[in-house]
Amino acid sequence: MQQEIHRRLRALPAVHEVISRLEDDKEFGPFMTNERSLPRVTRCVRQVLQNARETINETITNSFEEFEASLWSTLRKEILEKLKTVETSLQRVINATGVVLHTNCGRALLAPEVARFVAEHAERYSNLELNIKSGERGSRYVHVEELLCRLTGAEAAMVVNNNAAAVLLMMNTFAQGKEVIVSRGELVEVGGSFRIPEVLKAGGAKLVEVGATNKTWLKDYEEAIGPETAMLLKVHSSNYRIEGFTHTVSGAELVELGDRWGVPVMEDLGSGSFFDGASLGFPPEPTIKQAVRFGLSLVSFSGDKLLGGPQAGIIVGKKVFIEKLRANQLTRALRIDKLTLAALEGTLRLYDNEAVEEIPVWRMLSVSLETLQNYAAKLVEALKPNKRITAELKKDFSQVGGGAWPTVKLPTWVCAVKPKNGNVVELENFLRSGPVAIITRIHKDWIFMDVRTLLGGDIEDIVQRLEEWN
Ligand SMILES: *Cc1c(COP(=O)(O)O)cnc(C)c1O
Repeated sequence: MQQEIHRRLRALPAVHEVISRLEDDKEFGPFMTNERSLPRVTRCVRQVLQNARETINETITNSFEEFEASLWSTLRKEILEKLKTVETSLQRVINATGVVLHTNCGRALLAPEVARFVAEHAERYSNLELNIKSGERGSRYVHVEELLCRLTGAEAAMVVNNNAAAVLLMMNTFAQGKEVIVSRGELVEVGGSFRIPEVLKAGGAKLVEVGATNKTWLKDYEEAIGPETAMLLKVHSSNYRIEGFTHTVSGAELVELGDRWGVPVMEDLGSGSFFDGASLGFPPEPTIKQAVRFGLSLVSFSGDKLLGGPQAGIIVGKKVFIEKLRANQLTRALRIDKLTLAALEGTLRLYDNEAVEEIPVWRMLSVSLETLQNYAAKLVEALKPNKRITAELKKDFSQVGGGAWPTVKLPTWVCAVKPKNGNVVELENFLRSGPVAIITRIHKDWIFMDVRTLLGGDIEDIVQRLEEWN
């Protein structure tokens, strides 16, 4: 046995032997275009040979002759597969879940022209913090502040790393060592790592909970106001809804109360939206502009949720409050980089030019049922020649995601597939582990692929991957 193992290990070719054979192999041509491709090929060859060495030590089920006869073709196939898989850690995936703002898949997609604007500023110098007219130092925020004010009707605006940072900054600036009054129904946790009570604590504020989980009245807030009150805070309930016997206090009512007692009122709008979802049949929710019009001192929201831009936390509101935020040393630690800024300016300009349809999030949310049906039917049709799976057109529901309109179920069409051999869990895993990971949803004994979130080229990749299933 030991002798047989040694014999086989000796039969494995050396790295340089493998590489010189691959150099004459047509199929490897695209991976060996120049000298710079050699390190990667060498790395793959080493990994495959190492793997072969380890498997020889495990079990021996065939004769040496059989082993030797298939050795080269096995190694060759494994090296080719390794070369075809993407080497980078961050990879493109196909989002076939129908969740438009999928946090695990990177939330909002940028519009192509916005992505080009970002690429331009990544490769070139810019006036990021340069006032071109005077030649003096400028502020990076001027590139978006005016736009944000115009779009929201606010007096002033400020941008930080994300909405969590925005809330933290508001707490730290205005409520450190003081009390913040929040309704019990709004003490939410968003995506596991952001919990309102904890963010308040991190910002140095003391939380004063009022009302009950399902009902909070204006008088609950009023009774809690005292000499230590720094602000009244309203928080969007984001990814959950309490239904039935409920009552919440609107932003407008809170502002009226705050004004009477001289206490500022701020709101974490969560996703926030410039665009009124009611026009798409979504339940009414105040847009950012409406929230600003209520007279809130500050309003914060995310850049990569319904806004459809980059990860960012945007704060708009009254000038005196924004100025205090700017003066806080924390803003330096929470500041956005130039690529984010370029993506944000580009996206805001699309709203400013009334080109909302260019924003992928809104395009996906407003696409017609008929278009979705045609698209799903096309995928089903393309899968018909594949005899190892069954594909059918089915109706289902998509989700907005990102904590926006959690109860909204958007009617959609999916391409449902199931394997003729093997089970659906294996197929889901197979789709996820191809050269481009395809993220799907298991529904009973089917895999649902919602076409709402598919992009150009995705259908072809799905068809090709499913051809490899057996
Ligand atoms: C999503 C969300 C946040 C966090 O926003 P990020 O931009 O992801 O940091 C905070 N509050 C609410 C209500 C949210 O929905």
